[in-house]
Parts: sequence; structure tokens; C-alpha cells
Amino acid sequence: MPLNKIRPLLTLACMIATCTAAAGSNVTHDDQAMLGFAPANAATQVSLEQRFDAQLDPADQRRWMKQMSSEPNQVGSPHDKANAEFMLKKFREWGWDAHIETFSVLYPTPKKVALELLGPHPFTAMLHEPPIPGDATSDLPGALPPYNVYGGDGDVTAELVYVNQGMPDDYKELARRGIDVRGKIVITRYGGGWRGLKPKLAQEHGAVGCLIYSDPHDDGYAQGDAYPKGGWRPAEGVQRGSVADMQQYPGDPLTPGIGSTPGAKRLAIKDAKTLLKIPVLPISYADATPLLRSLSGPVAPASWRGSLPLTYHVGPSAAKAHMTVLSDWSQKPVYDVIATIKGATAPDQWIIRGNHHDGWVFGAWDPLAGNVALLAEAKAIGALVKQGWRPQRTLVYASWDGEEPGLLGSTEWAETHAKELQAKAVLYVNSDTNGRGFLGAGGSHSLQHLVNQVADGVTDPETHVSVGERLRAHMMVEGSGKDARPDAKVNAKLAAAGGDLPIEALGSGSDYSAFLEHLGITTLDLGFGGEDDNGGIYHSRYDSFDHYIRFGDPTFEYGVALSKVAGHIVLRMADANLLPLRFGDFSNTLDRYVGELHQLVDSTRKATAQQHRLLDMHAYALDADPTRPLAPPARESDVPAIDLAPLDQAAKQLDKSAQAFQAAYARRAAAGFQLSATQQEQINQQMGHMEQALTDAAGLPGRPWFKHFIYAPGMLTGYGVKTVPGVREAIEARRWDEANRYAAITAKVLDGYRAQLDRLTAMLNPSS
Ligand SMILES: [Zn+2]
Repeated sequence: MPLNKIRPLLTLACMIATCTAAAGSNVTHDDQAMLGFAPANAATQVSLEQRFDAQLDPADQRRWMKQMSSEPNQVGSPHDKANAEFMLKKFREWGWDAHIETFSVLYPTPKKVALELLGPHPFTAMLHEPPIPGDATSDLPGALPPYNVYGGDGDVTAELVYVNQGMPDDYKELARRGIDVRGKIVITRYGGGWRGLKPKLAQEHGAVGCLIYSDPHDDGYAQGDAYPKGGWRPAEGVQRGSVADMQQYPGDPLTPGIGSTPGAKRLAIKDAKTLLKIPVLPISYADATPLLRSLSGPVAPASWRGSLPLTYHVGPSAAKAHMTVLSDWSQKPVYDVIATIKGATAPDQWIIRGNHHDGWVFGAWDPLAGNVALLAEAKAIGALVKQGWRPQRTLVYASWDGEEPGLLGSTEWAETHAKELQAKAVLYVNSDTNGRGFLGAGGSHSLQHLVNQVADGVTDPETHVSVGERLRAHMMVEGSGKDARPDAKVNAKLAAAGGDLPIEALGSGSDYSAFLEHLGITTLDLGFGGEDDNGGIYHSRYDSFDHYIRFGDPTFEYGVALSKVAGHIVLRMADANLLPLRFGDFSNTLDRYVGELHQLVDSTRKATAQQHRLLDMHAYALDADPTRPLAPPARESDVPAIDLAPLDQAAKQLDKSAQAFQAAYARRAAAGFQLSATQQEQINQQMGHMEQALTDAAGLPGRPWFKHFIYAPGMLTGYGVKTVPGVREAIEARRWDEANRYAAITAKVLDGYRAQLDRLTAMLNPSS
């Protein structure tokens, strides 16, 4: 699933102001002190982490990946089950109390897939990834043919229309050219947003089928040598993947919001909102080329053109295409491996760590690279327990099944145990793919300082400076170029200033979604990347052990680095006197998000005025080539007053409360915390529940499963995050009344969060 991108900061100034303000309130805020630990305990913690690190062996991770990726391990495959049983045996061997939790999910598999071009230049698509020399598993049987799970069944024949990445703006461009996809088969290229949006929008525009291909411009020879010479996608390589409408809800399509346990009430397939009606097929660029060549009509806009050796036309095609998708719509079991070590003094406070184990074929990079790092942590923790250590809080290590089709294993588990998780879970740490290079970290911003402290204590295998220092350098370089992204420029400034590095906000794309966005549990997602060449084999047969040991992390040293970062975070959360959370970092980040909403309203107003001016001047008509009809864009509605004052007010008051909390926390820390066991228990329970105060039971507009009011995947991005989504998405979609309404609703949610924070501060102050 997609790698983390580091997000920008509104203004450096406001960040520094907040820190100094906290520091200024006559309490020395020792940023270097290990957050959450009394000075005496910090030294113990450092030695515990050193003993943990000493247990980590890259050879373990290499051996486990080789075994777990030695056969196709998709949902329903024998090796998927074998991998779950292998891990169960290992966890028990290492002293964990472990079991397999099985859920029954709707998991359609292809019975027949076919694609051909009719007419004067007939062509039959291969729809298969052939073996590659030097890749030992590439000719093994047992893999599913390339397909898009949860697409519809169908046998359709129609002209083709090329819709670029198939995103909303692409359909606006088609409309300006008077090209309609009703009754057509659309061909779209990967990229630009969640793959499920492509067939969903095609279906909404009346198309009868959808083909999604990988253009070499994005992850093939335009990026680097194709496999096996280099790591990039070869001509016959195909990106499989789910197209479920996960913007509604992830998980089993037939059991929204409830666990798909044997007796669960299931929707009828025809009533499941996340299933598509039209047939969808992923294809290679080898199969796409004859189809794209068959297109006539206008030449595609420059930004739609990839790197294939042909002129990209929009269509429709002269000849018709015929596609068939016929699936076996049966239930399949998914196997979540759950392992627990009960806490000694706070057993009802849970630290959960997860990574999925199901791949689309062999899944070496995605997901096993992250999964073997998780296993290594579990082995090391088991050794510490054998040496006599016990965590204060309970540890739950989970290897999820069914992530690829739609976050099934993690979502069904989270929905089944929702009540207990909301009572007991204080943290969920996710990982997924893992490569080489730079640390990617995203999640609840109250974790930002902890992540920075841990990253500063783990050595980068290649440069031998800390992972944190290497990330800081990376940010400074990334944001220094003149065409650097605006957010990269802000990060570069922040990195140069020496303060904590920002962690990103999470959208969707991996198993953290149910924990953060449905249950409101404090959540973190981690992984290394940016230097490996794994992108080209994403969700293909070539995501293999042989590819990974050449183009991924050949020495598994970044596997060990991930185990260290995730492991230290888990161990600190498990043994801290007070949970190492800093709510001031959340309130600072919120200030940035609210600032971005103001900028969004301003830029939308300016862009609308500009468009109206151009329309009134008939500029679009005069700009268009008369020989190629191009209608002016549809006139956008005027931007009325958007009242963000409730949000401004809420954010301002929250800043004050956060500073008061951090001052009280710092005072306690400096005094070695000095809390009774009961006080400590109550304060930690409250701190562990703070993230839930950012949710609302009613959920977000049009998608009640998503209950977090600060972080959510975009309805029109799928993966990419939308911060303050209720307001931001309404403004972007020009639903002005809804924007005003959700500004007030979100402000109310934030006021509830602030009130809970004030109660916590009162519990920390000595008089209490
Ligand atoms: Zn994955």
C-alpha cells in the first residue's frame, strides 16, 4: 500500500511560538528527557531497548520471508493458511499466548477473464504474467490470474475511450471535448488516486466496463530498467488490486460495521454498497498497447500522455473491444494470528501492533517485509520475558489476513472487538511494506514527539547517523529544489529549524483505518522506503523473494531498523509511567489544518472569480483551436461566506488547554511523577482515550463508518488524507451549506476534546 509522504507545516513561526510558550510557562520543558518516564526509569528503559536490539537478527527475517513467499499466499490459498499456522507456532515458541481468529468473508475469485479487440486488427489480450529468468517463483502454479476483486461480473462489447487516470477532472476534460463514455468501455491508467475510484466514476458516467493498465511512465521503463535487469515493471507485469468502494467502509462488503463472524447478519450481495456493478480488469502495458493504438478522436491532452511509443488519442476506438469477467462469489476464511503478553500492572491497557500477511501472489515486499519485522520484534520481546522482564501494559501482536482485498482481517477483528478495544486499547502501531532509505511515519499527532525521540535513538544502517537525523537531511534536500512541492518546502524549513520533524496525517491504504478512523484509537503507521525499486512490482507476480533481495532490502538491515523503531515505540508505551503522548503537538497541527482551510476558501474564491472573468471574456472560446472543438468549462457556482470562526475559536482554546496540560505533565515528570497506582491508572486510561474524543458517533457526511473528524481518506482520493474532512471535502465539492454546518459540528467535537484535556490537567495538578 502507498508509502508515507511527510506533510507540510502551516507556518514555522506558530510552531516555535507554541513550544516556547509551553516552555515559557515557568516550567522547564526538557525536550531531551525521555517522554513519559521518570528520570530514574529512563535509564532502565534504554538498557531494555538495547537488550531488545541485541535479539534482532536480519538472517531470521530473510529466512522467514523466503519461506512465507515460497508459494502464492493470497486469501483462500493453502499457503496463506500455512503461513498463519507457521506464525502461530512461532509466537507460542517465543512464549506468547497466541491463537488464530477466523472470519468468513465474501471473496470473489475469477472463473473466467477474457479481453479482445475486434475489427480489422483483432487482438487477444494475454492477461497473464509469464515466468522471468532468474526469478525462482515466477513460474509456480497456484496464483490467481490478474483481476480487480469486488468489480462486477459482465460480458460486454463496446468502443473504447481513454480517460487518463479516470479522476473527476479527467471527465470534465472529456465533457469539454464532447466525448461521452456512456455505453463504452473505458481504459484508464493507474495513478492519481485510489484504483477503486476509476471503475466507480466510470460506472457513474455510464460506462459498461473498465480496464486499468500500468503505463511505463509511472512504474516501468521510464522510471528505470524493467525487471529482471532492473526492478521496474516489465511489459507483461500487472497491478492486481481491490476496487471495493472503501470510501463507504472497508472490510467485508456484506457486514458493514460488524465483525463477519459465522453467525453475523450479512447483506445480500446485491445490497452491498461497496461492490461495483460493471466488470473491471487490470492489464499490462503489453496488453494495453494495441487497445490504445486502436483509439481515434482527438489527441489526448499533454498531461494524459504516458511513455508508450504511440500517439495517445482519447477515442472512441474505431473497433470494439470485448471483455468478460465471471467470478465465483463464494465466502472464504481469513486467518488473523493474534498473540498476547499480559501486562503486569496495567493489563487493561493494550498496545497493539499489526501487519498483514496475505499477498496478491508471493507478497515479498507487500506485505512480508513489514510482517517479518513484526515477527522479529515478537521473538525479541519473548526473549526479554524469558529473561524476567514483564511489560506493565498488555502487548497484542497481530498478523492480519485479507488486507489486500479490503483491509478485511483487521477491520473484522476491530469491529468484532470494538467495545473492548475502545475501553482498553491505548495505541495501534501498523506497518505494511518495508524497503530501504528513509523512515515514513504517519498517525495521531500526539505521538509526534515520541516518534522523534525514538527515531533519534535508532541508527540508520547505511549512513550510521540516526534514522531521525537522516530523515531531517532528506527533508531538507527534498524541499530545497525550485520545483519542490509546497509541503516539502515547509518541511525543509522545519527540518532546518531543528525542532521535532512532523509526522504525516493518515488517509487509508493499510490496516490502521479501522483503529484510527472507526474506533478513534491513537494510531501510528511506519515503514522505510524511498531508495528501493519496489514500486514497479506492486501487486504483481514479480513481488517475489528474488526481486526483494535484489531491489528491496538485500541485507534485511532495514527490516531490523523497522523492528527497532516500532519495537522501541511499543516498549515505551508499555512501560512509561505516564503514556508518552503530547497533545500540544496535535493542537499545533490542528492550527495548521484550520489555516489550510482558510487558504482553501481564499484560493477557491480567487479561482472562481478568475474562471468567471475568462468565461465573460469568451477567453476559452478564443483560446480553442477551431478545428478541434473544445467547449468552455462549466461555470462554477459563486463562493458564499464560509464561517470558519467556530473552528478558529475551538483551535485557539485548545492551544491554551494543551499548553496547560503539557505544563502540568512536565511538572509531574520533573518530580518523577509521584502518583499513586490508582491515579496513574486513571490518568493513563484518560490519556489513552483522548483520540476517541476526536470522533463523533454520527460519522462523516455520507459515510457513517468513518467517525474521525480530523483524519479521513478523501471521498475522491481513496488513499490520500483529507484533514478536517467534514469541512474540507464540502468546500472542495462546493457544498457550501454543508461546509458551514460541519465547521460548527467539528468545533463542537474539538470542544469536547478540550474539555477532556482540561479534566486530565486537573488530575495531574498536585492539588487534585
Ligand atoms: Zn500491503
